Amino acid sequence: MSFTLHPTLVQWPPCSEKPLKLQVSNSGMASLHRGHPWLYAEKIKDANQQGKPGDLAVVFDAKRRFVAIGLYDPFSHIRMRALRTSKPGPIDRDFFAGRIAQALARRLPLLQSDTDGYRMLHGESDKMPGLVVDRYGETAVVKLYTHAWLPHLCSCLDSLLQQQPLERIVLRLSRGMQQHPEALHGLQDGEILYGAPLIKTVTCRENGLIFEVDPIQGQKTGFFLDQRDNRAQIETVAGGKTVLNVFSYTGGFSLAAARGGAVEVTSLDQSGPALQSAVRNFALNNHVPTIAAAKHLTIEDDAFKAMAELIRQQKRYDLVIVDPPAFAVRRAQVKDALNAYGRLAQLGVSLLTPGGDIVLASCSNPVSPEDFRQTVCTAAAAAGRPLRQIRETSHPLDHPLDFADSRYLKCLFAKA
Ligand code: SAH
Repeated sequence: MSFTLHPTLVQWPPCSEKPLKLQVSNSGMASLHRGHPWLYAEKIKDANQQGKPGDLAVVFDAKRRFVAIGLYDPFSHIRMRALRTSKPGPIDRDFFAGRIAQALARRLPLLQSDTDGYRMLHGESDKMPGLVVDRYGETAVVKLYTHAWLPHLCSCLDSLLQQQPLERIVLRLSRGMQQHPEALHGLQDGEILYGAPLIKTVTCRENGLIFEVDPIQGQKTGFFLDQRDNRAQIETVAGGKTVLNVFSYTGGFSLAAARGGAVEVTSLDQSGPALQSAVRNFALNNHVPTIAAAKHLTIEDDAFKAMAELIRQQKRYDLVIVDPPAFAVRRAQVKDALNAYGRLAQLGVSLLTPGGDIVLASCSNPVSPEDFRQTVCTAAAAAGRPLRQIRETSHPLDHPLDFADSRYLKCLFAKA
């Protein structure tokens, strides 16, 4: 080990010496064969020993051929996350270093765009299932979705630091993990795993724009990095326009629109702290003449209510951006989510000047791109403002799509 990491990580009890052998149902096997890295608890028929979080677990088929090896987590419904499928091989420090190197190499093109806010590791799609690392300048935020990474984190972070110098690493834990504090050996959400304590926010650059990021109090790991390319698109169409940015968070789209020459930008969000951060982000970028010249307004309210009120006041905007939080995380929520997307599309087009531009995004994984598109098109048409010249975007380079079901982000650019 060459870096001084958190002592709890360094002293983490070792995993079981021998991997668990799992007997898996046919459907579980088929899913692993298809390349999906998750093995759900109910697909496991038997195990040869009790497993601890982070133990290796291996699956063979009826003919004793290797199917997968991965990390075991007795606390999670996703009982094993596969690291290798099709070919067996060691899972050790070199293995993790290799996966990290591949992930970082994929992101090299981003570094040419004055960007140091990006996702370094995107879990499943970078073949490190359940482990996400976001970089904000010299600070990295490690977000874990399974206890299974904890025994391996020391080698992973040491390899990461060797490949990518950083000043600080912050730990964030999924809600599921926080429900089992007994398996955290005292580690807490927001813990500093490496480097100096975080006394205030950090900053990152996205295509030259500066954003403050709060990796501990902020939403997600502090910033919605996945919208970078869509924000860059907005910059190219915002010149001379009045803009309404609904679900603005800390003003990502607002800043892009302002730099692109928007005359007035309104950030609308229900979170006061997010809007205060958006105001500070405008100040941080005040050296950009178009941003200094743009008028920035904020509305702190529920989006549905505030948009209806703006319609009542007959307010109109040349460009409306609607990027809500995920409305569905499970299949059963899809119907309600589609209703909400339809309602937002209707409200959004009703706030547009004739021939105005609308941008509608969805980050609900179980909502398909087809259903999203059809729903918002139908809703816009029903409001008497059918969408035209529709363009659809997908994931940015640092959020790769490497297995079925990994797509969650959908974004439509249209005129109405
Ligand atoms: N577009 C943003 C990310 C949006 S995340 C960006 O580019 O960074 C979703 C945002 O919606 C969050 O800031 C959250 O506070 C806000 N939000 C959630 N529910 C809301 C509601 N009902 N009304 C208004 N804002 C809401």
